[in-house]
Amino acid sequence: MNFQLTDEQRSLQEAARNFARAKLPGVAQECEETNHAPDKAVVQEFAEMGFLGINVPERYGGLGLGNVEALLVLEEFGKISSAVGFPVFESCVGPVRAIERFASESLKQRVVPAVCRGEIQVAVSMSEPQAGSALTDLTTRAETRGDKVVLNGTKRWCSGGGHADGYVVYCRMSEDEGAKGIGAVYVEKDTKGVTFGKPESLMGFRGVPSSDIYFDNATVPTDNIVVPAGGFKKLMEAFDLERCGNATMGLAQASGALEDVIEYVQEREQFGKHLIEFQGVQIKLAEMKMRVEAARLLIHRAASNAQNGLPSILDSSLAKCFANEIAREVCGHAVQLMGGYGYSREYPMERRLRDAWGWGIAGGAIDIQKVNIAGALVGRRFDQRR
Ligand SMILES: Cc1cc2nc3c(=O)[nH]c(=O)nc-3n(C[C@H](O)[C@H](O)[C@H](O)COP(=O)(O)OP(=O)(O)OC[C@H]3O[C@@H](n4cnc5c(N)ncnc54)[C@H](O)[C@@H]3O)c2cc1C
Repeated sequence: MNFQLTDEQRSLQEAARNFARAKLPGVAQECEETNHAPDKAVVQEFAEMGFLGINVPERYGGLGLGNVEALLVLEEFGKISSAVGFPVFESCVGPVRAIERFASESLKQRVVPAVCRGEIQVAVSMSEPQAGSALTDLTTRAETRGDKVVLNGTKRWCSGGGHADGYVVYCRMSEDEGAKGIGAVYVEKDTKGVTFGKPESLMGFRGVPSSDIYFDNATVPTDNIVVPAGGFKKLMEAFDLERCGNATMGLAQASGALEDVIEYVQEREQFGKHLIEFQGVQIKLAEMKMRVEAARLLIHRAASNAQNGLPSILDSSLAKCFANEIAREVCGHAVQLMGGYGYSREYPMERRLRDAWGWGIAGGAIDIQKVNIAGALVGRRFDQRR
């Protein structure tokens, strides 16, 4: 067991940190104000710097490094904001990884290298109005007709909805009920029959545009099938990696908050001394640090233990659940420690708290992770319907 990063991992982390701190606070502020994602030129700069597709094999345009390396970079970007970290998230742990693993070679070549070059972004569209935690209740249909697939249905809460260039759409692809009938199809944004709802106005996640997606006889080639009916298990295995990305984004809100607040309490004076001199403040900082470190260890363990590149459901759910919970707690303490300045929109602290809350719903709510964990503990999946 080795708890040290290698020299290479440390220099990658430092490069990401330096780039993010020097270049991204202004971009993050603009994303927050406008609720627009970072410009394509910014995302392409990420690619040029080697911050996209870090853990994607080189033959698909990635750097061919490991999941830990990708998550180290993601944390540094996420500390600045969720919006600026999101392109890194999508390219390293997002639905594009399901394409890279399971799709036809031609679809892989069409999509994955373009994502790694920062030319396109790919979002995941699973949730529906009546299928959230109960994802296998989804009703969007994809019917194969000759060499075409025709999609009909409504999707909800898609991060990147209306902005991303392509969507991995979970849909019903056979008459089989429940998970057995579910597969996934890649649908380009400009496909005829695809329209988007109004941009959602969320509590946080500003700069990560989100909307409903409507499919009305949207037709794509069968080559766009990522996995056919029966492939739900594979999709969920790829999702175990996305869960570690979600955990890292949660962690980043907390670790970024902690870094900023450590500086703040050493500068701010009340009662004639710096806040850090009060024991109540010292204890709070220690509690925040314990939680941040523990979350990071769980995430890195999940990523390091990954078999064939994909973490286990137990490791990834433990990491996501814990990081989601402590992110809300730690960001809440950071807001409190900064007093009025913590509550002001002039500073990034209140945004981190809002975003931290969202990461605990996105990608499966916190309590659903707990059900996963309990299931893994006793070696079975609990049927929530009986
Ligand atoms: C910021 C954000 C980004 C998102 N991005 C995407 C995206 O990119 N693509 C996408 O497809 N979806 C996305 N989602 C949707 C997300 O996956 C769902 O919101 C989530 O799975 C919960 O579903 P729901 O909102 O329908 O809540 P529900 O399923 O209605 O759950 C509501 C509450 O009930 C609890 N609950 C439900 N069932 C159980 C149970 N069996 N046991 C215990 N508790 C239970 C949950 O824990 C939850 O707290 C996003 C959501 C958010 C908030």
